[in-house]
Amino acid sequence: MQDTYGRKIEYLRISVTDKCNLRCRYCMPPGGVPGIPHEEILRLEEIARLSGIMAGMGIKKIRLTGGEPLVRKNVTGLVRSMHEYPEIERLAITTNGVMLPQLLPELIDAGLTNLNISIDTLDREKYQEITGFDKLEDVISGIDSAYENGMEIKLNCVPCKGLNDDEFTRLAGLSRDRKIDVRFIELMPIGQGRLFTGISSKEILEQLEAEYGKATELPYMGEGPAQYFAFEGFKGRVGFISPISHKFCADCNRLRLTSDGRLKLCLYYKDGVDLKGPLREGASDEEIQELVKKAIYMKPKEHCFGEADVQDTELKRMNQIGG
Ligand code: SAM
Ligand code: SF4
Repeated sequence: MQDTYGRKIEYLRISVTDKCNLRCRYCMPPGGVPGIPHEEILRLEEIARLSGIMAGMGIKKIRLTGGEPLVRKNVTGLVRSMHEYPEIERLAITTNGVMLPQLLPELIDAGLTNLNISIDTLDREKYQEITGFDKLEDVISGIDSAYENGMEIKLNCVPCKGLNDDEFTRLAGLSRDRKIDVRFIELMPIGQGRLFTGISSKEILEQLEAEYGKATELPYMGEGPAQYFAFEGFKGRVGFISPISHKFCADCNRLRLTSDGRLKLCLYYKDGVDLKGPLREGASDEEIQELVKKAIYMKPKEHCFGEADVQDTELKRMNQIGG
């Protein structure tokens, strides 16, 4: 699948639910959000069918996200069924990690090997301030068991002024003794994110270099938008995802499927193509493929975060889109 700008579309991010067991302040309002009615949410079999159709069209990598994907009942069953598509070379989950202590054994049994775990601080009180819940210990224990079980782990932190300013060297330090990647993601002005101020990748790198010495930039290995660095003596890498300071739209190879069944072409724009309606009205695999192809031709050239005209922008929150 190629779009009109010659980008090869190989990556599908699926939001399996808009619900979450945390309330990260830059992502969700403290009182939560009105949930999407149950019948509007794609059933797991529908997600599996759409994934299978898109795998047949060239999707090679799928990431399950949310909301919090691990709160979706039987998400493990979905992981299991996704492994039946031979075209899918890589299946991963992005999670806040809170439910890993309970679910890790069954996820491993279902064949999951890759986990991205979001963690913005290593301080218990700060974690509670940011997320609304005293769950840091569960997340740490989930990371430890995933690592001990040989999973490939990436930790994601969103630096936010006034929330976790002095946490970055400690977080990056997690990649010193273990082969874990720690990544810093620039805050995007989406939903609640508009109420906070992010910190640029450059500023974080400077802080880390002041603590750990000069970092070496690693060559790009085709691993998505992150730019990776090596610090001397570290087993893992430190990465930066910089949608604001360095647009990576020219290499964007992704599509997003929202929990209510819309195919989104860009995180920034609010439009998207409804797949749930046709699916439930009995569309054939070929008809769905046609809709996906048409959608891909609409994939915009780039996002416009930071520019004045915001009329078309996504008003939904990150928990609804899947990050
Ligand atoms: N609940 C899961 C989690 O937290 O990993 C998956 C969904 S969450 C929306 C996916 C990622 O998006 C998390 O790493 C989160 O920190 C990040 N995120 C949320 N709001 C963001 C924003 N406004 N800008 C940048 N990243 C954001
Ligand atoms: Fe939930 Fe993830 Fe959003 Fe935090 S970032 S509120 S864990 S969806």
